[in-house]
Amino acid sequence: MCGIVAYIGDRKAYPILVKGLHRLEYRGYDSAGVAMLNGNLNVYKCKGKVSDLEKFIGDGTTDGTIGIGHTRWATHGVPNDVNAHPHYSESKNLVIIHNGIIENYAAIKAELKKRGHTFLSDTDTEVLIHLIEEIQKNDSLKLGEAVRQALNQVVGAYAIVVMSKSNPDELVAAKKGSPMVIGIGKGEFFIASDATPIVEYTKNVVYLEDEEIAFIPRNGELKIKTIKNRPKTPSVQALELNLEAIEKGGYDHFMLKEIYEQPRSIKDSMRGRLNAEKGIVNLGGIAEYEQKFLNAKRIIFIACGTSWHAGLVGEYLFEDLTRIPVEVEYASEFRYRNPIIYEDDVVIAISQSGETADTLAAIELAKSKGATIVGICNVVGSSIARATHAGSYTHAGPEIGVASTKAFTAQVTVLTLMALRIAQRKGTISSTRFHQLLSELESIPAKIEKVLKLNEQIKTIASKYKDSSNALYLGRGFTFPVALEGALKLKEISYIHAEGYPAAEMKHGPIALIDEEMPVFVIATKGGSYEKVVSNIQEVKARKGKIIAIVSEGDEHVKEMADYTIEIPETDEILVPLVSVVPLQLLSYHVAVMRGCNVDQPRNLAKSVTVE
Ligand code: GLU
Repeated sequence: MCGIVAYIGDRKAYPILVKGLHRLEYRGYDSAGVAMLNGNLNVYKCKGKVSDLEKFIGDGTTDGTIGIGHTRWATHGVPNDVNAHPHYSESKNLVIIHNGIIENYAAIKAELKKRGHTFLSDTDTEVLIHLIEEIQKNDSLKLGEAVRQALNQVVGAYAIVVMSKSNPDELVAAKKGSPMVIGIGKGEFFIASDATPIVEYTKNVVYLEDEEIAFIPRNGELKIKTIKNRPKTPSVQALELNLEAIEKGGYDHFMLKEIYEQPRSIKDSMRGRLNAEKGIVNLGGIAEYEQKFLNAKRIIFIACGTSWHAGLVGEYLFEDLTRIPVEVEYASEFRYRNPIIYEDDVVIAISQSGETADTLAAIELAKSKGATIVGICNVVGSSIARATHAGSYTHAGPEIGVASTKAFTAQVTVLTLMALRIAQRKGTISSTRFHQLLSELESIPAKIEKVLKLNEQIKTIASKYKDSSNALYLGRGFTFPVALEGALKLKEISYIHAEGYPAAEMKHGPIALIDEEMPVFVIATKGGSYEKVVSNIQEVKARKGKIIAIVSEGDEHVKEMADYTIEIPETDEILVPLVSVVPLQLLSYHVAVMRGCNVDQPRNLAKSVTVE
């Protein structure tokens, strides 16, 4: 989940490393560090953000045309200066940066200690670099070979880059379970945990596969082999990423930019897949596997966080439209509880980054039982995209804000398209309803544009509740997952405790919390449960709770009861999640800004959760 960046070539490494770390900071950010080699090996690292690192370095020596940099998201040892990466080997001749977890580090550390090694940090990473050096010295091996042998002793996940003081002309990188991309320039290489630090220098990249080691020379060709010593030919791909897409473009925060991008990201996720006029829905990525859906007795969604909420919307969509029973699972629970998986199950894994460690492990488990695995992810070429049998990308573009917004609506869009396609093939939807939903889906981006125009009104509402300590979010049916997602957004970025609940379930517990201090956000749009939700609103009012209701345009009834209403364009009930989540995203954003929180990089969180 951390950020890795490294450079070897003719240019000065330091500015490239620091710029790259800024771009990667969204992935994890409790400490940062760099190491540059220029005769001397200069290592600078400290707790805090990349800007703290820059201040810390000040006028320090940063020369060198080879270097490595890291932003950490601590797993082993508190975030402090010593635990920050890079880490030295025992002799201080080698340095390493690492993303992931070395699971058997304690056993290796104990052995190394017996052989006289002393450790400065509490990290698993430092153990690995000591091991590499010991292997290298004992057998007087080349660095790459020592790395290879060490990795054969390691259990866990890693993306690493190792640099040696005695060889300023080579970097060695390797990966398993954590992503790593190598950018190929003219006589130079850029290594990073995703393509964002690379895109402005080159569009030619190689994605390392699991258990591969890359030997990256100053002058010469990139060489790759597996940790079992099998040579591989690097497969160079063209990067489809624009620089503008990863910059703020005039918005104060990435999150706000990404909220505003939703009309476009939803359109992009439908492009080439939906033609309402001709009545066509077609998802090329699953075409060959449609029969598996038609035969499926069950669909299982596996995901974490916001993607899990998208999975819940998926449950309502698939059951309603395709009549296939659905289960929605937290990947972390699913993988460890000996789940029942049948060969005719279709498992749909949802992940923005495509790197979520628990989701990946759950995929492998389901695959080993013979199920068909379909992926929905946003990052092209990501580990989940590669581990699944088939899949459909959400074309939301890079999502940098840690709190997911446009990735969620893109996921729901793709799930809607998938459910519609399967329903049409299965004959579980009438032609009239199919056509009606297709054109309604096509009109969603325009409806979201209208919701975005309510920004000032939503900001005013945010100012009223910014000092709350708690908040409750209620929804029913298709809007129940939206209530969960609204609550998650608020707690993630504003640190206000918030709970999402099915509106009727409130009576079974949370109603005890309601008093005149408690804001209750209710999604009360027109649809099957409207009257029921209105009754739930009455129950809150009777206990003096404050009601902020999201209603369909023109609704006067709820307006009379609510303290505030936000009117959103009416749409079909099954598409309401796409429109109704947007005001909740904006609301959380404004509350967080007013509370002085770091919206794009909330405390303790990381964007791409590559540890379990
Ligand atoms: N396990 C390593 C540590 O705690 C790396 C964590 C990361 O991925 O940032 O230092």
